[in-house]
Amino acid sequence: MSVINVAIDGPAGAGKSTIARAAAKALGYLYADTGALYRAVAYYAVSNGIDISDKAAVTGCLGKITAELRYENGEQCVYLNGKNVSPYIRTPEISIGASAVSAIPAVRAFLLDLQKDIAASNSVIMDGRDIGTVVLPDADVKIYLTASAEVRAKRRFDELSAKGAAPDYEKVLADIIQRDHDDMNRETAPLRQAPDAVYLDTSGLGADEVVERLISIIKEKIG
Ligand code: C5P
Repeated sequence: MSVINVAIDGPAGAGKSTIARAAAKALGYLYADTGALYRAVAYYAVSNGIDISDKAAVTGCLGKITAELRYENGEQCVYLNGKNVSPYIRTPEISIGASAVSAIPAVRAFLLDLQKDIAASNSVIMDGRDIGTVVLPDADVKIYLTASAEVRAKRRFDELSAKGAAPDYEKVLADIIQRDHDDMNRETAPLRQAPDAVYLDTSGLGADEVVERLISIIKEKIG
């Protein structure tokens, strides 16, 4: 049986993971959050005292890293050198770190085959920044999911507050704008809408509505 590949790209906080996870569950596909891989590399660097802005040092540590996505009780976990680091990679520090290491071509090359392999053997909804453009250029369905920076910052703010943190909205917004800028302007695999991607602005929509739209786009495309 052939597999179905759905690529979802878009900026930080657009709701990609919430939407993609729910749609994948409804369709019986795997959900792959590729940002977790970049976060795992950043986590390794930060925990080992490697300066994330030092490209040579980050590139040099890749030989000491094995990263993989595993699925436990239907949830994706990211393993770094055999340890599940999923609980440690969602901090603001690792978000900025992931954006920094993801601009390094060697890091992107290091994670490329892993992502392609998942899609080759599974029907998957894979989200990231370069899935429709670089990782899965032949994906059956491509979506570019976005929302205004303010809406995305508010969502991230609510998420962090719900976890018990006391975030500063202006700081969350500034981080989002900074990451947008970095992700869209890096030389290797910048965040871009693939020419054949469906553009979906979620600013005025609730999560359920977006999930419904996504599922109907997928069903329509794959017939
Ligand atoms: O999606 P998430 O916010 O977890 O991604 C963290 C960072 O990893 C992003 O800001 C981006 O710089 C990078 N990333 C990437 N390519 C992907 C997924 C994530 O460059 N496919």
